[in-house]
This record gives sequence, C-alpha cells and structure tokens, in this order.
Amino acid sequence: MQLERVLIPRRVRGFDDGRPDAQAYDVRLDGDRVAAVSPADGPAQGMLLSALVDAHVHLDKNYTVGQVGAAQGDLFAAITRMAQARAHWSGPDLRARMTRALEDAWQSGTRAMRTHLDWNERDAPLSLGVFEALRDAWAGRIELQCVSLTPLDLFAGASAGEDIAREVARAGGVMGAFVYRNADLEPKLRRVFELARQNGLALDFHVDEGLHADANGLALIAELAVRMGMAGQVSCSHCCSLSVQPEAQAQATLAGCARAGLHLVALPTTNLYLQGAWDRTPVERGITRLREAAGHGLRGCIATDNVADGFYPYGSYDLLETFGLGVQVAHLAPATDWLDAITTSPARAMGLAWDGRIAPGCPADLVHLQARDEFELLGPTGRRRTVIRAGRPL
Ligand SMILES: [Zn+2]
Repeated sequence: MQLERVLIPRRVRGFDDGRPDAQAYDVRLDGDRVAAVSPADGPAQGMLLSALVDAHVHLDKNYTVGQVGAAQGDLFAAITRMAQARAHWSGPDLRARMTRALEDAWQSGTRAMRTHLDWNERDAPLSLGVFEALRDAWAGRIELQCVSLTPLDLFAGASAGEDIAREVARAGGVMGAFVYRNADLEPKLRRVFELARQNGLALDFHVDEGLHADANGLALIAELAVRMGMAGQVSCSHCCSLSVQPEAQAQATLAGCARAGLHLVALPTTNLYLQGAWDRTPVERGITRLREAAGHGLRGCIATDNVADGFYPYGSYDLLETFGLGVQVAHLAPATDWLDAITTSPARAMGLAWDGRIAPGCPADLVHLQARDEFELLGPTGRRRTVIRAGRPL
C-alpha cells in the first residue's frame, strides 16, 4: 500500500531530513510496517499521523448522563451523583458501555487508551473485572491501561491503601488519586508515593481540578516525584488552578514538573464545561498552561476525559475533535505543531512500546487525514480520515 503526497507533521516524524512541515512525502507500507518514507513532488493531498493515544478517559462512567443528569459546572455535585449511580451498575451494563466507547475510539483511530476506574473503597470496584476482560479482548486493537481513581483521604487511613496498591499491581494497573485542597496534603501524598514504590506502580493523579489559586497539589507531586525517586513515572491531569496562579508561581511549578519528568494532561472538554461561572458567561477557561509547560521542555498531552456523563454531558471518543477544542481554548498554533499532544506525548506517558514517531520500520498503525494544512485540520472535512491498522485500512 502506498500513501501519496502526505504531510507528516514534524513532531510525529521519526526522521529528520530538514524539510519543513509543508512539504509532502510518499509513504510505502509493507505488511504491518512502514517500509519507506520519501520526499514527494507537488502539493499535499492529506496528512499522516501515527494512530492516536488517549491518556485519560473514564470508561466506567460514560453514557450515563441520561440517568444522572448534567452537573452544569458543579464538579462535586457530579462526583456525588455518579457515586449514587455507581451502586446500580452491573457487569453487563459496564461491559456494554465500555465496549461502545472502544468501538468509537477504534473507528476514530485510537491505538491505546488509559482509563481511570472509580475506586472509592478498599475493595476493587466491579468495573475492574469487566475492564480486565475487555483489555484481553481488545489486545492488538486498542492497548488498554487502567488507573485506580481513589479519593486521596482514603490513603490516610490504616491499611486500605495497601490493599488497593496490591490489587492494582495484580491487575497490571497504575495507581491514582483525586487531589484537591486536601488537609495534610503532604503526608497523604507521600503515603501514595510509598505505596507505589513498594508495589512497583506508576502514578496518575487527578490534581487541582478547580480554580482556587491555593490548590497547589501539582507542585508538591512534582517535588515528591523527585524526592521519592519516581521521576518520569508520574502523570498529572487537569491542573486547572495553575491557570489562575500568579505567573511566577506557575512558572516555578512547571520548572519543578519538568525536573520530575512529569506527564501533564490537559482535558479541554470537561474543564470548559465544569470550570468557570454558570450563573453568567464564563470568562475563565480552566485549561492548564500547556504553552508555558512547553517553554520548560514539558510537552503535554490532550485527552478525552468524560463522555456523556454527569461531569461532561457531550462528546465522543474522537480524540481529534477534543484536540481541535484544545487548540482553540489554549491558543495552540500552528495546530500541526501540537499533534504530539495526542500521539507521541501520551505514548511516552503511558510507556508504550512504540513512541508514535513515523519512520521506516515503524508499525503501520496510522491515521490518514484529508486535511492538507494546519487550518483544514480543525474542520470537519479535514478531520475525515482513513484509519490504517497493521497496514490495512479499517
Ligand atoms: Zn478524569
């Protein structure tokens, strides 16, 4: 199979031939690999990305907005409502909703996905077993990882944390916590890091998901990652309060994040929906500081987060759509220069075998877009695509 005259954005190139982004390539596929990439003459007739990587979703909660209602800006109301709804979830219900999400993501060109699973008590949630079965069933199509999403305060008490960490390790998962302006933040976070280290687990936090400037969990997590020897193994999502902190404080926090090799994940859909005012037109956007992070060499991810649940009532698992929103909300330009946020950066955050850079010899797991430039990339026509997996169009 041959793809003719495609643009390959520089941040997803695994080769450097000095040509600018605007010049096209012919790409030859052989079996399930890219065989050759060669400069082409003439105008581009499409754009080529590596298959997409979604570093943050909630497969257990999706498609429940009809039952729980939309939270209209109240994160903590959404948490309460979802907790009440969770009591009524069943295995078949979870399996059906998770499968629907995976089908959507698969058709959209996603090759790997990390989902958080609500984990609010010592015992593992019902969703874990369903997830594990689907992870096996989808192997080779979408590589799935799970994260335990636990209120940070649960780690303060006796042995619940040890049981959670052990079970996450058994399931081959990542340990996580929801962190927002907790009392005694430092000892609680330190406990989470200790448990992760003892059980050989990576960490993935929901942190500072709100617009109180005093929410500063991110800075502490970055510091602990270095101090506890876990640099490069920690992801932090949301980090909304960073956007409202004084510039100097935010820059110091991001410098710490860069030192810690922290993976920063922005979630534009849910943050736009939940953050900012609801009794008038919202002015604050809630998006974390992706551009300033890049200034520290920290290339962030953009991910889907919630879909059609109490936290975010709209959306889909088409990561390119979320990317387009992120480009506009955070003023990421040129957009083609930020495509690492849905390809190579999340691949690094998830520790995937392929870094997502296109080069001869790499997997032929690709997304061929109609877009011929950075502007068409943001439109529905430009986002039309052929998903190629193991060298064959879906
Ligand atoms: Zn989330």
